[in-house]
Amino acid sequence: MKRLFIFLFAVFFINLAYSQENIVEKVRNEIKVWGEAKILIPKNNIKDLNILAKTISLDYPKGDFWLGYVNQKQYDNFLALNLKHKIFEEDNSTKALTMAATMAQMSNWDRYPTYQVYDSLMRRFALSYPSICKLDTIGFSVNNRLILALKISSNPYQEIDKPKFCYSSTMHGDELAGYVLLLRLSNWLLSNYGINQRATDIINNTQIFINPLANPDGTYAGGNSTVGFSKRYNANNIDLNRNFPDPIAGQHSDSEQWQKETLAFMNYADSNEFSISANLHSGAEVLNYPYDCSTSSNISHSDVDWFIDVCENFVDSIPFYAPAVFFTDVVTSGYINGGNWYVVYGGRQDYHTYFKHSREITFEVSLQKKLSTSELTNYWDYLSPGLISYIENCQKGLEGYIRDSITNQPLRAKVWVENHDGFNSEIYSKTSSGYYYRPILDGTYTISFSSDGYLPKTIPNINISGSGLTIQNVLLAKNENSLEEINNRIEYSVYPNPANDLLTISLTSKPDLKTNFSIKSSLGVELLDGNVIDKKTIIDISNLNRGIYFINVGTKVTKFIKE
Ligand SMILES: [Zn+2]
Repeated sequence: MKRLFIFLFAVFFINLAYSQENIVEKVRNEIKVWGEAKILIPKNNIKDLNILAKTISLDYPKGDFWLGYVNQKQYDNFLALNLKHKIFEEDNSTKALTMAATMAQMSNWDRYPTYQVYDSLMRRFALSYPSICKLDTIGFSVNNRLILALKISSNPYQEIDKPKFCYSSTMHGDELAGYVLLLRLSNWLLSNYGINQRATDIINNTQIFINPLANPDGTYAGGNSTVGFSKRYNANNIDLNRNFPDPIAGQHSDSEQWQKETLAFMNYADSNEFSISANLHSGAEVLNYPYDCSTSSNISHSDVDWFIDVCENFVDSIPFYAPAVFFTDVVTSGYINGGNWYVVYGGRQDYHTYFKHSREITFEVSLQKKLSTSELTNYWDYLSPGLISYIENCQKGLEGYIRDSITNQPLRAKVWVENHDGFNSEIYSKTSSGYYYRPILDGTYTISFSSDGYLPKTIPNINISGSGLTIQNVLLAKNENSLEEINNRIEYSVYPNPANDLLTISLTSKPDLKTNFSIKSSLGVELLDGNVIDKKTIIDISNLNRGIYFINVGTKVTKFIKE
């Protein structure tokens, strides 16, 4: 009875609060049809933006409101916060989203491709430029659409030692401008190789990965022939840009499983280890640099000066090509620290930057999410200089090889800039070749190189200057005190032998912290193990059956008998 009363009271309360506009019903209907709905929440009503950011998919501040997206579960949780809100209904009537149903109709880059035309375009890039372009399948979406990337390189079918760069767009399926911009950028790079010096230099010096469409199910939510009904979330109604492991909020800050699309990207980043990347979105016009998960007063990226420098370079090109108001809606400078704008958890920018040691910026490229097709060529004019020059950042910084000083074997090593790096900003050399690339501003640095089992090396006064990459090769000497060496050196005896309940391991020298033992049966089954803590360590073997056993300490094996 009490429960019923509470329930009735709750229903009454909700009705009272929203009866005039039937907002809740409207939002729920929208979610029923599209899997997601857009809501506006008055700013002065929000007590804790962090709680709201964890409850719904916060999009952007819009005047006196925050715009947010909700799926069914998010909306239920949101209603529990008791915040006033209204549904955001976009006026779609003026939108002209002309589709290209044939490849020929894409020739002026002023239409959105149907899914089939997109697929064909990507294949044609690889077929038309086989010596510099390869088509990768990053994975498949929930509805089994392809998640594709072009690898553009002077040797696309080989793993070569050049910096790796990644552009990706439209992981929010309704943020369309970046999709066509990246297709057109791919075409510009490929068709200008050997013709235009800049395009040629970029391809010769960098391995470029371009994924124009990260969330095909969202973009083609209305079917493969239109982007008119594109939506933010994937087919499971999950925001992919809140679905990645987060440096602050943990592995599943959105309380959802990693989506197919998210896992595909995580695998792709694992196998490619990008050095510089960017993620294209829409809904604002601003460059958003790490971190998103915290304000800069709490956490600042060690390379904040580098981020600001590359952002400045990008926005400096804009006034020559775009109207004066372009890229000024968030801040007049055109770039901002992500967390200082608003905190986001589970975004790909922070995932790539923190966990994968890349430097990723979120490019918000157009105020209009579903940019009218009549604007597409204008936006190319406004943004292509910046998009091109951002890749060229891979031609500055430090590179080299890290190898074993005797055998010349390539080493996976950590590259750490002293008095500079922190919060995972270090980078690593490749296991396969020992090659590393570290983007960094011009200057003089002390840099340390370290690898498991090797003596670390610190090199002072490494001078990095603006003209091309500075090369610093490093040879590391094996650490004689490495675990492997220690284990090889251990000398010991066991007594008594035969033993009854207790067996003593007696070492000729003091054990290392990591020295351990294991006892195996004559059939090789491990029965006991533990640490060797002192020169004499006594083990209780009373639980072993009578028989023959083998004890390992370090790498040496001794036979003993249990009576
Ligand atoms: Zn977005």
